[in-house]
Amino acid sequence: MSSPVFDLTCELMARRSVTPADEGCLDLIGARLARSGFTLERIDHEGVSNLWATRGTRGPVLCFAGHTDVVPAGDVSAWHSDPFVPTVRDGHLYGRGAADMKSGLAAMVVALERLTAQSAPGGTLAVLFTSDEEGVAIHGTRRVVEQLRARGQALEYCLVGEPSSQRRLGDLLRNGRRGSLNGRLRVRGVQGHIAYPDRARNPIHQALPALDELRAIVWDGGNAFFPATSFQISNLYAGTGAENVIPPLLEAWFNFRFSTASTAEGLKAQVTAVLERHGLDYELTWQLSGEPFLSAGGRLLDAVQHTLAAELAVTPGISTGGGTSDGRFIATLGTEVIELGPINDTIHKVDECVAIADLEPLAKVYAGIARRVLAG
Ligand SMILES: [Zn+2]
Repeated sequence: MSSPVFDLTCELMARRSVTPADEGCLDLIGARLARSGFTLERIDHEGVSNLWATRGTRGPVLCFAGHTDVVPAGDVSAWHSDPFVPTVRDGHLYGRGAADMKSGLAAMVVALERLTAQSAPGGTLAVLFTSDEEGVAIHGTRRVVEQLRARGQALEYCLVGEPSSQRRLGDLLRNGRRGSLNGRLRVRGVQGHIAYPDRARNPIHQALPALDELRAIVWDGGNAFFPATSFQISNLYAGTGAENVIPPLLEAWFNFRFSTASTAEGLKAQVTAVLERHGLDYELTWQLSGEPFLSAGGRLLDAVQHTLAAELAVTPGISTGGGTSDGRFIATLGTEVIELGPINDTIHKVDECVAIADLEPLAKVYAGIARRVLAG
């Protein structure tokens, strides 16, 4: 069962790198890449560990991207083995980060070692790994991308090793992600005795018609690559706990998952227009957690499809579904971004695992993609 990818996956999983901790994962990876001729640059920032490494000076640049951090284990007693002791059962490797995404990192590192041990492909191989993907993701990939942009670093192609597969390895890749926009609304009323509504102003009564109007809006119809933009209210608070008091305040939180058919600014303007029309006394704060991105097709997508057919006899589905990922930051450099990694059905769950039989094939696929992208 031991193999280069299996062994490195286990070494990484044994490190308790809950966001934003890295616990030496990048030191371990960096040392191996340095032995393979990579030039390393640590762009650590605000307690987040970031590694940018390159081998080669000519274009085009193919970057492998991923994260060393993991989400917390949660209720450890619910796990069948210690989440930070990589454990083999029934052909699977169990532990936090097994699928998201220490096996992906290990497969990338081993693929890069093999690529550079042979006559290295043309172009430049690069790595962008961070310890802050699962958290606020401000000081990780985003920070590195800002530096790359400032120095005019070209980055034509990026393969993100996030777990994208559904039922078998390589059956789904992602070529984009929806944007995510959060709003927090506070509607002010005037508190008063419930028997004297004329002397108060009820923020619940004021806000409900506006919220209902927002709920019913068709924001866009999506497009060929994205489903329609969705609006969901996630939290709604009002009331003092007393039955005879009109409350002074209502608070509503909501989220847009939006396609490239809409923009964050356009959605904000529409929401504001509705609130104004209803005459609310309100405060509204926004947090844009990700712009949508889309790589409609190119040399990287071609290479991924050909490699999956050749190595695994799989024709992948192409999706922009799921949550946000660091691909959204990298795509702002004009990069073609594809996400491809192990099966994702246990990520962030108790008893997260990866099939051991998928580990070496994943490294073969990553190496094959690099060869195809950088060949002549
Ligand atoms: Zn991940």
